[in-house]
Amino acid sequence: MIPVALFLLDPSATAGADLTEVSARTPLLAATDLAATRGDGIFETIVVVHGRPQAVEAHLDRFARSARLLDLPEPDRDRWRAAVDTVAQRLAAHPRGAVRYVMSRGDEAGDGAPTCWLLGFLPPARPEGGPTPVRVVTLDRGYRSDVAATSPWLLQGAKTLSYAVNMAALREARRRGADDVVFVSTDGLILEGPSSTVISRRGDEFVTPPAELGILPGTTQHDCFSALRAAGRTTHIRELTPDDLISADALWLCSSTRGAAPISRLDDKEITVDTESTTLMNAGLDARRR
Ligand code: PLP
Repeated sequence: MIPVALFLLDPSATAGADLTEVSARTPLLAATDLAATRGDGIFETIVVVHGRPQAVEAHLDRFARSARLLDLPEPDRDRWRAAVDTVAQRLAAHPRGAVRYVMSRGDEAGDGAPTCWLLGFLPPARPEGGPTPVRVVTLDRGYRSDVAATSPWLLQGAKTLSYAVNMAALREARRRGADDVVFVSTDGLILEGPSSTVISRRGDEFVTPPAELGILPGTTQHDCFSALRAAGRTTHIRELTPDDLISADALWLCSSTRGAAPISRLDDKEITVDTESTTLMNAGLDARRR
């Protein structure tokens, strides 16, 4: 990841005067910021194609949803949109970039104002033929599928800065000779990847699990489904079990920076890579204007 530019969004400034460009390597956070000491905050990562940020409104929606779940101040939508556009324009020379934007609860020694910043960077280049197929293991998430309703303080379904568990799951996948993970609830339902949404295909029907299971509503999955429906395929949001995945005709993990990546192995089972649907979904993503 090559950091390109970093801006600080000053919550106390008037609109338009609140972005300061600094080098991405410039120290920015106080050691007492709750992002650093508690991982207490939220973020989004938006893919940028030739300087155009994609699915911006859906990411802003999810950012606001995460803020509500964490009792953070309502993000100022217009200012965040303008800030994302400014950083994205700095990446216009690159076919594909990304903007990560963050709001932490602020400095624990400060005035209670959130700390806000954005980072423009270049994600790993995507191979010519589309995203590389991934080998995946299923891992127990340790929560029931109704956790979002029964225990909202666990923040399942919010995109928080606390990704240490997600990173640990990826290390466990590597120990098991795989590239990525699909989490399963303790009551046996498919959830999501540590940084991706699961899509499964059986025949002409594509299915992804519902956000009510305490997972993130995926912006990439949403736009993949739009592309599939435009091509005459059927899409549904429905619960899936590990058996459903094992017996599926094809599977994908999708996220903003990687697009729709086909799964080539799930635990011990080889999964057929469906090149046609993969191309269809990624072409739909690349055709987005915004
Ligand atoms: N689920 C989790 C836990 C994620 O971290 C992400 C993205 O990083 C996704 C799903 C996919 O979301 P999107 O397609 O909006 O990038």
